[in-house]
Amino acid sequence: MPHPLRIAIIGGGTAGWMTAAAFASVFGTSLRQVRLIESSEIGIVGVGEATLPHIRFFNRRIGIDERELMAATQATFKLGIEFVDWARKGDSYIHPFGAYGSRVAGVPFHHYWLRRRAEDDIRSIEEYSLPIMASRANRFALPSEDPTSVMSTFGYAFQFDASLYAAYLRRFAEARGVQRTDGKIVDVKLRAGDGWVESVQLESGEQVTADLFIDCSGFRGLLIESALKTGYDEWTKWLPCDRAMAVPCENSGPLTPYTRATAREAGWQWRIPLQHRMGNGYVYGSNFISDDEAAAKLLSRLDGKPLADPRPLRFTAGRRRKTWNRNVVAIGLAGGFLEPLESTSIYLIQIAITTLIDYLGERGATPDNHLDMRVVDAFNRWIEMEYDRVRDFLILHYHATERDDAPIWNYCRYMSVPDSLKFKMELFRTRGRVVTYKDGLFLEPSWLAVYFGQRVMPRGHDPRIDALDDAAVDTQLSQVRENVQRAVGSMPAHEDFLAHYCPAPTPAAMSGARR
Ligand SMILES: Cc1cc2nc3c(=O)[nH]c(=O)nc-3n(C[C@H](O)[C@H](O)[C@H](O)COP(=O)(O)OP(=O)(O)OC[C@H]3O[C@@H](n4cnc5c(N)ncnc54)[C@H](O)[C@@H]3O)c2cc1C
Repeated sequence: MPHPLRIAIIGGGTAGWMTAAAFASVFGTSLRQVRLIESSEIGIVGVGEATLPHIRFFNRRIGIDERELMAATQATFKLGIEFVDWARKGDSYIHPFGAYGSRVAGVPFHHYWLRRRAEDDIRSIEEYSLPIMASRANRFALPSEDPTSVMSTFGYAFQFDASLYAAYLRRFAEARGVQRTDGKIVDVKLRAGDGWVESVQLESGEQVTADLFIDCSGFRGLLIESALKTGYDEWTKWLPCDRAMAVPCENSGPLTPYTRATAREAGWQWRIPLQHRMGNGYVYGSNFISDDEAAAKLLSRLDGKPLADPRPLRFTAGRRRKTWNRNVVAIGLAGGFLEPLESTSIYLIQIAITTLIDYLGERGATPDNHLDMRVVDAFNRWIEMEYDRVRDFLILHYHATERDDAPIWNYCRYMSVPDSLKFKMELFRTRGRVVTYKDGLFLEPSWLAVYFGQRVMPRGHDPRIDALDDAAVDTQLSQVRENVQRAVGSMPAHEDFLAHYCPAPTPAAMSGARR
C-alpha cells in the first residue's frame, strides 16, 4: 500500500485556503495528506474582494454552497466592472460578464451594430447586453438555463470580504481533514544533491517534511524565491502601478451589482460594494504620486465615512519564471501578481489549483505516489499562457487612452506594448475582428467591451453584413434591444434579491458575535 502523498501548504491567505479546501474535497485524506502552516502573527493581504464568474465552477467542483458562502462573506453579486474616465474624462463603460446580442448566420453580433452605429457613437452597444443594462438599473436575477432565453446570455461573480472568505474556506477545509498549524517558518532545508525542499522549520523548532510543498506565502515567496531562487519576470514597463492604498467605508446609496474602476491622476480607484461596507482602494505608480498624497486623494473621494486608516500595499507586476520548481508549486501572490483592475488574481489561483489537481490526479504522481516530474513543463507553460493573456488585456486599458492630463497617461499612451497585443489591436482596428482562443481568460465580449470603451474603433466590419439591406440589420438590432429591455424590466432590485437569497449578518450582529 503506497503512503499518501504528503502535501504541505505554506500560507493561509486566499491562496492557501482555496488550495487546502480543493485538495481535501477532491482527494480526501486517504490519497493525499494535506497540512497547512500559517502565521497569524504575519497575517494575510486580505484585499481580494472582486471575483470573476469562473469562481462558481470552482465552488461547484469542490462542493461549496453558494448561498451559504455569500451570506458568510457579506457578498454581493457582480455582473461586470464599470470603467470611468479611462479613454477620456467623462467616459463610462461596463465590461460585462456576458455577450452582446448573439451570432446571426455565423457573424458576431457587433458587426451589425458597427454597420448601423452613428459616427461618434461608442455607447449604444450597451443596449444589446443584458448584464450591462441590469447593472445600469441596479437589478439582478440568476441566469436562465434555457439557451433560447436572453436570460441565459450572462454570468455572474461575487464581491466579498476577503478575510471572511479565507475564514470560510478554513472551516470548510478543516471539516474535511486538513490539519492546520499556526506557526512561523524560520528556515527551509534543501536536500543535498538535487536541491528539493526537504522540510521547513517552525519557530517552535518543529520540522515539517512533505513530498510536495505548495508555496502560498504571499509576496515574499518563502520557498519558491527565498529558498529556490526561481527568478521573476517583471512587467512594470507595461503596468506601471506598483502600490495601493486600501480603505473600507460605510455604504451609502443602493448596492451596485458591479465593481467600479475610476481612472485617476496616477492610476485608478476601486469601489467594491459589500453587504456590510464598501471596499475602496487607490492603485497607483510610485513614480507619479507620493504615498501621502495617494492616501489623501483616496480619503477625499469615498462615498461614505471611512471605517479604518488607509492601508498601504506594495507590489511588482509580473510572474515567477517557473510556477512549479522542483517539489515546490507557487500559488497566489507567491507565483506572481497582476494588478487588480480586472479582478484576475483569484482566477489565477483557481486555475493553478485545478490544473495541479488534474495533473496530480491523472499523471502527477506515479503509482507508488512519487511525483512524476514530466508534467512540470506542461504545467508551467499553461500557467505562463494564462498570465500572458491577462497581462495583454490589462495593458490595453492603460495604452488605449486619449488622456493627456497626467504623466502616467502620457507614458502609457506612447509606451511600446507586447507584440501579441499589438497584433490583436491591429486586427481589431482593420475590420472589428477579435483574436479568439479556446483556453485562457477573456473571450470575445470582454475584448469588445474594452476596445469600444477605450475608443479603439474598427475601420470596417464583416463584409457578410453588406449582403443585407439596412432594414434587415435594423430588425436584428431592435429585436435584441427589446428582449434585453423586457428582461431587465422583470428583474428585481439587486438589494431585494440579496435580502431574499443570501442575507448576511448586520455589522452590529457581527460585532456582537465577536464579543
Ligand atoms: C491592492 C490589491 C488589490 C487586490 N484586489 C483583488 C481583487 O479585487 N480580486 C482578486 O481576485 N484579487 C485581488 N488581489 C489579489 C488577492 O488579494 C490575492 O491574490 C489573494 O489575497 C491571495 O493572497 P495570498 O494567499 O497569495 O497571500 P497572503 O494573503 O499574503 O497570505 C500569505 C500567507 O502566508 C503566510 N506566511 C508568510 N510568511 C510566513 C512564514 N514565514 N511562516 C508562516 N506563514 C507565513 C501568512 O501568514 C499568510 O497566511 C488584490 C491584491 C492587491 C495587492
